Amino acid sequence: MLKLYNTLTRKKEEFVPLDSKKVTMYSCGPTVYGYAHIGNMRTYIFMDLIRRVLRYDGYKIKGVMNITDVGHLMADSDDGEDKMEKAAKEQQKSPYEIAEHYTKAFFEDLERLNIGRPEIIAKATEHIPEMIDFVKELQNKGYGYETSDGIYYDIAKFPGYGKLSGAKLDEQKAGARVEVNPEKHNAADFAIWKKAEKGHIMQWPSPWGMGYPGWHIECSAMSIKYLGKKFDIHSGGVDHIPIHHENEIAQNEAYTGEKSVNYWLHGEFMLVDNGKMSKSLGNTYTISQLQEKGYDPMVFRFFCENAHYRKKLNFTFEGMDGAKKSYERLLSTLYMHKKSSAAAPAEVIEKYKTEFNNAINDDLNIPLALGVLFTMLKEPKSCDIYKTALEFDKVLGLRLDKARPAEETAAVDVPEDVMKIAQQRAEAKKNRDYALADALRAAAEEKGYRIIDKPDGYVVVAANE
Ligand code: AMP
Ligand code: ZN
Repeated sequence: MLKLYNTLTRKKEEFVPLDSKKVTMYSCGPTVYGYAHIGNMRTYIFMDLIRRVLRYDGYKIKGVMNITDVGHLMADSDDGEDKMEKAAKEQQKSPYEIAEHYTKAFFEDLERLNIGRPEIIAKATEHIPEMIDFVKELQNKGYGYETSDGIYYDIAKFPGYGKLSGAKLDEQKAGARVEVNPEKHNAADFAIWKKAEKGHIMQWPSPWGMGYPGWHIECSAMSIKYLGKKFDIHSGGVDHIPIHHENEIAQNEAYTGEKSVNYWLHGEFMLVDNGKMSKSLGNTYTISQLQEKGYDPMVFRFFCENAHYRKKLNFTFEGMDGAKKSYERLLSTLYMHKKSSAAAPAEVIEKYKTEFNNAINDDLNIPLALGVLFTMLKEPKSCDIYKTALEFDKVLGLRLDKARPAEETAAVDVPEDVMKIAQQRAEAKKNRDYALADALRAAAEEKGYRIIDKPDGYVVVAANE
């Protein structure tokens, strides 16, 4: 029996889907105006783990993830600069080019981290008519009102506002960071449609003139379009609880007239050196950057899986070094099991399977499940243990089929001097010194390594990989 912690009820609950065989699930996706950082990726690994556990339990899944390629103003507010347009201006590209570039990079990150793509990927810009219809419906039902700069959601009309975060409306008003728009009925009312300001690049015709959707309306319109008025699971990071998801609930329930999402699941944040990640502190690493420093994406996934998703996880390079050693040991021990022709007693295998099942079904206790795996590997060497580990890997997603001898795991470590060559080459490329860059690439190849360019950097692999 699967139990999941539901943010809405603040309890671990038995998971009972609407349809006993097929789970419907929506996950908040990225705003594609920059490269996803390791904190973002922790949240997508969490999404992937939910999906893998559900599948392990025999469910089919209809999953939807949005790609926010329009709007999404700074600081979750209704005012301020549009993140997409800001990036477009800075890079002298159109917002569509920006979105395309970072969407591609995002999918590459998913692949490198062995995160399965949800069945439906929904781009906001491809669902503008649905969003307009949604806004119209909210207006018809008396939840939306027009001001000089857009259509706002009237939260006073929705008594359930705040039920996800448990925040009182008064506290929210006091906490509002932006100057209160005098036309709004309530400080916490939020824009569901914005009228395009002069110079706003992305805009569409609507009953209220040219404009663009509010960020929160995207997820409501697209989740209901694909999953219906009622669906099982909605996932995202904890930062979305107080505003984005509270607003989604207000929109969905006003639109459908009933409870729309049964289980709200939230992943805790990743910290770096015990603090917040931010561009200005220079501590927002990408998966490519970790690769440049010699950490396989699987090591990062393994690092994340060693912490429960509802606990904050502090990223440090010492922690990553530990994860790297431990992951390599895992692969080499597995290899010894793989090579053994001895059988393991069926009851021993069953015992571990049961323990593993209990762990993952107890609110996705992946750290405990990893503990079960490590204990199992201490059993006498047997190919049955290897096979069972591969079974477990359907949930863990750690590419355990890449088990290899200890000598080889050591060899995947790229030596310091080769990493240095790769760094110098990146520097040369930045300075447009392509002759030097080519010479450095050749130097790396001579040492048996290949440098592969990625949209946000490069990776170094053994030449025979
Ligand atoms: P964004 O593109 O900003 O909407 O973020 C994408 C996803 O990453 C959201 O689900 C956020 O909740 C999540 N996220 C942002 N920062 C972090 C962090 N430091 N740790 C974990 N998840 C994060
Ligand atoms: Zn969302």
